[in-house]
Amino acid sequence: MNKKELRNMKLLEATDELIKLAKEDVPVRDKRYYTEQLIYQRGLYLRAEVENNILKVAFYLAEYLSMDCRKPVYTLYIDKKNDVFKGYDYRTKKWSDSMLDKTIFSKWLYQENSYMKEADTALIQKYLESEYDDAFYALYVYQREQRHRRLGMKYEKILTNWDQCMDRLPEVPKDWLRWQKKVGLTQNFIFYHYSRRKDQTGYCSWCESEVPISHPHHNAVGHCPKCRHQIQYKALGRAKSIKTKKETAYLLQTCGKNVFVLREFQLQMLIVSSSYKKPVYSFFERRRILYDEKLNTEEYYFGRHHWTKENRWIQGKLQVPLYPGYGGYMTYEGYDMGNIYGKSLHGIKNRTF
Ligand SMILES: [Zn+2]
Repeated sequence: MNKKELRNMKLLEATDELIKLAKEDVPVRDKRYYTEQLIYQRGLYLRAEVENNILKVAFYLAEYLSMDCRKPVYTLYIDKKNDVFKGYDYRTKKWSDSMLDKTIFSKWLYQENSYMKEADTALIQKYLESEYDDAFYALYVYQREQRHRRLGMKYEKILTNWDQCMDRLPEVPKDWLRWQKKVGLTQNFIFYHYSRRKDQTGYCSWCESEVPISHPHHNAVGHCPKCRHQIQYKALGRAKSIKTKKETAYLLQTCGKNVFVLREFQLQMLIVSSSYKKPVYSFFERRRILYDEKLNTEEYYFGRHHWTKENRWIQGKLQVPLYPGYGGYMTYEGYDMGNIYGKSLHGIKNRTF
């Protein structure tokens, strides 16, 4: 359906019947509003015809028809087979891709008082395979659904592209889970029971075993005698549950020739004191930055996609609320300091960061 083809089509002119009806459609002045309005009984008249399998719907306004002007103000063309539509506005002499609710005819969509011959209504219903009695509304519904189909096709293409790109990323290293627990997370604890014994022990969350301790103080910071990690003492019975601060960790991997990816994870540990030997971990991969040979970047983030309404990898920069909890303003998320997993760096040569 190209413009030239449409231009060569026969112009649908108003019939004598429409002219006669429009002349009887005498408007009344409505003075309820600040600006006076002319209220027509119907106001809008339509005709429909199918030419070369294309549906033509002509729109006429009573004010012009009543002056014997047979030319439509607007013609809507629909090619159902190719699922496209186009409008032509004779007043601005411009083509339009607008849906009917964005045209001057929008008010008739809901008033349902436009006029069309029954045969024309039937023609539109048949052409669109629509069950709406109001053919004008049926046209609008068709446009709405067509837009939806087009958008769906567009997003499907984009999402497939993103998924293919994400599928090319390598697996996480075999010891990645352990690394996140032991290196990525930097807050560790020694849990102990109150005791007067000289050979007291506590449970180190890093060692995952009992270690000797002396004179522990609840919440005091010290070092584990076995693993040497900084720890915080927690008296069992006093500590209820501990949530570590959200920490960031990065995994840098090669991904094809001279291409690499930086993956950002958010790590957090929750320890409930009644089961302090079994912490609950939350490891969330939030962002992926792909670098090409020239160090151009392409960013992805894991989030809810507005079209599919599912959580998935999305190309773009992650935005977060500027004032969490207050809504409104969004800002681009920065990058926090974090440990970088080192073993996978050997594949990257002659690169400076
Ligand atoms: Zn330890």
